[in-house]
Amino acid sequence: LMQLFRPLDMLGWVYRSIRQGLIDMEAMFDLTDTPAEVTDRPGAPDLVVGRGELRFEDVHFGYDPEREILKGVSFTVPPGTTLAIVGPSGAGKSTLARLIYRFYDPQGGRILIDGQDITAVTQASLRSAIGIVPQDTVLFNDTIGYNIGYGRDGASQAEIEAAAGGASIDRFIAALPDGYEAMVGERGLKLSGGEKQRVAIARTLLKNPPVLILDEATSALDSRTEEAIQDTLNRVSANRTTITIAHRLSTVVGADQIMVLDAGQVAERGTHGELLRKGGLYAELWARQAHERALEEAAE
Ligand code: ATP
Repeated sequence: LMQLFRPLDMLGWVYRSIRQGLIDMEAMFDLTDTPAEVTDRPGAPDLVVGRGELRFEDVHFGYDPEREILKGVSFTVPPGTTLAIVGPSGAGKSTLARLIYRFYDPQGGRILIDGQDITAVTQASLRSAIGIVPQDTVLFNDTIGYNIGYGRDGASQAEIEAAAGGASIDRFIAALPDGYEAMVGERGLKLSGGEKQRVAIARTLLKNPPVLILDEATSALDSRTEEAIQDTLNRVSANRTTITIAHRLSTVVGADQIMVLDAGQVAERGTHGELLRKGGLYAELWARQAHERALEEAAE
């Protein structure tokens, strides 16, 4: 009898993997995008993650051969540290994140996690090592408990509640008439941008990946919500190798390293203080954002 069930089990697993892939993909791409086919090499081993060092070595990439988007990008994120990527719109920040998750393969250079070329390992093992908190979280038309528990198959109610606590959405849920059974999504309760982001954070806490990609929402949250979410994200990324695509001042200041990407190339790299002293592109971006921020705060 077991033999009869095993294939069904497998199908379930395949289905869940695909579904997970789709959710992350929906979040990272416009649905109109059709990513190029990326496949496992025959006999590819699983990625073995130790401390979680992430390394780009002279990475070149373009969505089409005529137009190179990343033009030889190199950097290393030491295990457990945070690299914030900033830069003008269209510089290639999201593209870089998509390459880490292997939606596409680089045309030149290599991306390594703990010394292993990510194109040489199975995609399933790569993707299970990486958590993504996207700009816009897709919620299922299901309960809020299900939406959080989705981060890991077979999560218990206690684990779901602990993750909700870690993402500071536990009190919000406790105040709902149906608690964790409350329906959300299009046909249920509509959550705010900040609340949806917390659901994504809770999912990620359940997944507990060694490598984290945070794609900050560009949409304006009021500064109090922004600070509260930032606190939560800081806790989640502590001791995890983290890449943050940063749009806000509050994120970059605390990052171990900041990298300025400009037109597909690394323009500058350093800490907040180092880059301000340098008086280059970062200092300019900072001054502009600080000015905008002051105007916003005056208006609030
Ligand atoms: P932003 O801060 O505005 O989000 P970004 O730095 O994240 O910008 P990317 O989204 O990486 O920039 O885009 C870099 C370039 O690649 C842009 O010129 C964009 O038009 C192009 N691009 C992005 N996605 C695709 C795609 N799927 N197919 C073709 N070109 C794309």
